[in-house]
Formats: sequence, structure tokens, C-alpha cells
Amino acid sequence: MDSKTDILGLTKSECEAFAQNLGEKKFRGGQLYGWMQKGTPIDEMSNLPKSLRDKISANAEYRLPTIEKRQVSKIDGTIKYLMRMIDGECVESVFMRYEHGNTVCVSCQAGCRMGCKFCASTLRGRARNLTASEILGQIAVIGRDTGERVGGVVMMGIGEPLDNYDNTVKFLRLVSDPDGLSIGLRHISVSTCGLVPGIKRLSDEGLPVTLSLSLHASNDERRSALMPVNKKYGIKEVLAACREYFEKTGRRVSFEYTLISGENDSEEEARALARLLRTNMASPCHVNLILLNKVDETGYIAPDRTAANRFRDTLEKCGMNATIRRRLGSDIDASCGQLRLNNM
Ligand code: SAH
Repeated sequence: MDSKTDILGLTKSECEAFAQNLGEKKFRGGQLYGWMQKGTPIDEMSNLPKSLRDKISANAEYRLPTIEKRQVSKIDGTIKYLMRMIDGECVESVFMRYEHGNTVCVSCQAGCRMGCKFCASTLRGRARNLTASEILGQIAVIGRDTGERVGGVVMMGIGEPLDNYDNTVKFLRLVSDPDGLSIGLRHISVSTCGLVPGIKRLSDEGLPVTLSLSLHASNDERRSALMPVNKKYGIKEVLAACREYFEKTGRRVSFEYTLISGENDSEEEARALARLLRTNMASPCHVNLILLNKVDETGYIAPDRTAANRFRDTLEKCGMNATIRRRLGSDIDASCGQLRLNNM
């Protein structure tokens, strides 16, 4: 083999073929697969003979991240991880407990090149894409660390999923595979800043995941100031792609709206947002309001709770469905991307 096989990126049947290629019985591949889904290091795959484990190490690359740092919230048990990839790049992942089950937030790139003005992940650009196995590995490692079942995934960590399209789609197929972690596609959200060609492609993949669009403003001028991607794909175009996503997949699109004091949090802006969504989206929409997590380098601050409630109430009065997202782990909340940044 000239390049080593990325074994964590294999399906169960590919794993069986891998074992057979090494001159082993097929079932050994199944055993290997089972261990990997549980985030087990090769040395600890106890029902595989030592000779086979050595053979695997020699012929394969096992892209399971390791836990570099771990912060546990004293308030709600949320756990934030700094995960180290095999080349030393670090990303963040978060384990959250909800009433309906445990959800993991994964990163898909080391850094980001989208340039959103309020976001810490983009401050030093993008180092590289993560492979599908590295995205999956974050969940496997967290499952092992917590000993708990993970029932949902949100791609809302570091990076832009649709800027790493092939790995994202491969990851979605792997993580939902009934032989593997078997996380239902309906329990997975892909969050995007609005890369229109990616949204269109995703709607044809036969993967009924929830799409979350990071909107953050109700007109092009304001959105372009916060999110440079809007200069390429403006609001009308991106909402048309969202509508098409809904029509093709039957899955509702949700909208993320980070409230930033003095930038996008006025009542007038709430009314404009409701009008925008009503005229451009045929289906009822849900708006998730997020209070900005302060990133010192950006200078932006979050509105107070009263202003946030007023924004939500205005949206609701205009017929929108809106919630202010509960802030899990507020005591460990170096906002997304800051843990990585502080460890570079
Ligand atoms: N690239 C994807 C995933 C990014 S993170 C996207 O843009 O959707 C998930 C959400 O967190 C996005 O809506 C993003 O805009 C938002 N976000 C980024 N930095 C933030 C901050 N400092 N405070 C609050 N929300 C933030």
C-alpha cells in the first residue's frame, strides 16, 4: 500500500474488505469497525490478536482525535473539548444534555475562511479541512469519554460544512449508518453561512438533515457588513436556495440569528426580518436567536436580556416562531473557536 487506509472513514463492509486484504477473516473487520465506533485506541481492541493489531497499525491511519482539554460546566454538565488531530491541529467539540437526549456539536475545519466579523473561528483563517473520519472521530471519542449515547449532532462548531462539502456528506453517511453510530438524519443539523451551490447540492443528496441558515441580518447591506459571504450570495438568492431545500427534502429550514447590540437587535430590524421571511419562505419558519458570545478581538457586544426578549416578542407578534437559544455551559463558554485560538 502506498498510502495508508484511513480506517475510521470506512463503512462496516469496507472494513471487512480491509481485513481480508490483510489476509484476515472477514469478521475481524467487523470487530475492528465496532471498536472504532466506540472511540477505542488500537491497543485496547482486546478481542483482536496482538499480531493483527500490529498489522493494522502498520497498514492503516487511525484518525481518532485525542482529548487535549476538557471543560465541564458546573451549571448543566455541558462538556467542551479541545480535540487534537493526528497532525496536531486542534478543534473544539461540545457535549450537551437536552431533555430529548444528548447532542454533540462538531467542528468540520481547523479554522475557517468565511470571515464573519463576530466569530472567533475565522480570526486566523483556515488551516485545513477535517476528513470525514476526523469529524466522526469527535463523536466516537465523546461517546467513550462520557459513556453515554449520543442521539443528535449539530455541525455548528468550527468551520463551514459546505466549504468542506465532500467530507461533510461522507460524514453524514457514516454517522447515520445503521451499522455504526446510527444517528438519525432527522437529528442532525447542518449549519451554513449560506454557500448557495452547496445548499443546492445538499438538497439532492437524499440526506434529510435539518438545514440551519446563519442569517444574522434582514438586509443585504447589513448582512454583508457582518458576513462577507453575503457579497457573493445575497439574501434573496440564499433564501431561494433554502426554499428549494425545503421543497426537495421536506425538511424545514431554521434560521440562526445572533443578536449583536446596536447592529441587528432593534425592533425595526425584527419587523424587517419577519417581513423578509414571510415574503421569501413559503413555509412557516423558525428563528433561533443567539445572544452574541463576546470575542474580545471583534469589539461587538451582546444586547441585554430585555432587548433580546423584545426582539423575540416583536418577531412573534409578526407571526414568526422564535426562541432565544438556551445557553448551555455558559460558565465554560469561551465562545466557539476561542478555545482553539487560545491554544495556538
Ligand atoms: N459555518 C457555519 C457554522 C458556524 S457556528 C455557519 O456559519 O452557520 C454556528 C453558529 O454560531 C453560526 O450561526 C454562527 O454565525 C454563530 N456564531 C459564530 N460566532 C458567534 C459568536 N461569537 N456569538 C454567537 N454566535 C456566533
